[in-house]
Amino acid sequence: MGEIFQLWIDTLRKNWAAGKTQCFHCGDSMRQSRAVEVEFAGERRKVCCHGCASVLKTVEQMGMQKQYFAQKAQAASQDEK
Ligand SMILES: [Zn+2]
Repeated sequence: MGEIFQLWIDTLRKNWAAGKTQCFHCGDSMRQSRAVEVEFAGERRKVCCHGCASVLKTVEQMGMQKQYFAQKAQAASQDEK
């Protein structure tokens, strides 16, 4: 799990250096200038569109941040297979 997270962070750093960043929610790469910022789990997150922003807002409103992160980690480990 830790390695996958590290890979993800490395990808984010590379994209950042190229003037691009990844959507916090769906993982699409996008220009930093087009990112939508949304407050989620105590931090400002960058997402690609208002659709993704509204998903995060809904999760936040429902207090399901923990479940969200757990699902994200699970999806990442499934991608590896
Ligand atoms: Zn997105």
